[in-house]
Amino acid sequence: MPPDSQWSQFTEREAVLLASYAMHSAESAGRRHAEPQHAYRAPFARDRDRIIHSAAYRRLSYKTQVFTGELGDYHRSRLTHTLEVSLVARTLGRSLRLNEDLVEALAVFHDIGHPPFGHAGEETLDKCLRDSGGFSHNRQALRIVELLERRYPAFPGLNLSLEVLAGQSARADKTAAVERPLLEAQVVDAADSIAYDTHDADDAMELGLLRLEELLEVPLWREAARRVGNVYAGLSGGELRRAVLHELIDWQAGNLLAQTIARLTELHIDSVAAVRQAPTIVCHSRELAELKTELEATLRDRVYRHPQVLQMRTQAQARLKEMFAGYVHQPELLPQAFLARAATIGLPRTIGDYLAGMTDRFALREHARLFASD
Ligand code: MG
Repeated sequence: MPPDSQWSQFTEREAVLLASYAMHSAESAGRRHAEPQHAYRAPFARDRDRIIHSAAYRRLSYKTQVFTGELGDYHRSRLTHTLEVSLVARTLGRSLRLNEDLVEALAVFHDIGHPPFGHAGEETLDKCLRDSGGFSHNRQALRIVELLERRYPAFPGLNLSLEVLAGQSARADKTAAVERPLLEAQVVDAADSIAYDTHDADDAMELGLLRLEELLEVPLWREAARRVGNVYAGLSGGELRRAVLHELIDWQAGNLLAQTIARLTELHIDSVAAVRQAPTIVCHSRELAELKTELEATLRDRVYRHPQVLQMRTQAQARLKEMFAGYVHQPELLPQAFLARAATIGLPRTIGDYLAGMTDRFALREHARLFASD
């Protein structure tokens, strides 16, 4: 460890502020390619900065979360979703005295592997790559930061701290993990669900796919509206909708914190080693988890499978499939940097990497330019 005073400032500050079960920078296993510590940034803050400066992160602004950009400008993109996850996760992380830099790094990282057109795009690429190992956005995030981003002369990828990679690996393969993810990673997972369960309903209402009255029939929303009614009587329409959305985030976050703190005590968690051996610690109460599951079923049936959404999915999937087949047929249409890699990793994976890196609008433009049949 470097002898400079900044490093001892980080470690001393963390020793005072962080809980014993938080990931302290001084305990990090480091990076695959050894690098000196930065003069004035702690290692996980540096990871966060590297991710935010990556091309893959910036492209999230034109990638679909649930609804494509053609529908309007109100709803979440993959980038604004990521920012909401990050802020909820940081709030939770700070309240639990976790390493907030690591929480933020994991949050801004969690969706950078998403291809264009959200889960519709992911399913299509997975089918196209069926004989070459398939495709998952969680695994793609690791490929991006370990291989595809070229930002430093000394190594491929971003050379992130091993704890950041391990957090994402646990997302990529939940069954393979022998050890439980760090609390910082568990918090990001929970924040992801708090964010999308809330904002997908908001976006769906704004787009007219779901009515407030329909949501108020769902027990989670009914209870949140009842709580709002205790504070503000007589709200309706947009005012009620916004008040319920605020209440939902607050309720989920508050419940998660209370439940997590109780489990930390009950399981006598006092170190990172104990976290790694324990069952999942960061969770909602069973009652709230059930209410969330019911809401998710409603979102699935009425929003994600709404005819208008399904139609966009079908269109997007057809285009991606045509593009994949088109590049297989004419690999020379790929950019040189990708083509050069095909010799070592094979053409299908190369095309998968190229297509997955595209934003929705770039994919549409390239499809129209190169492969449109009429
Ligand atoms: Mg997400």
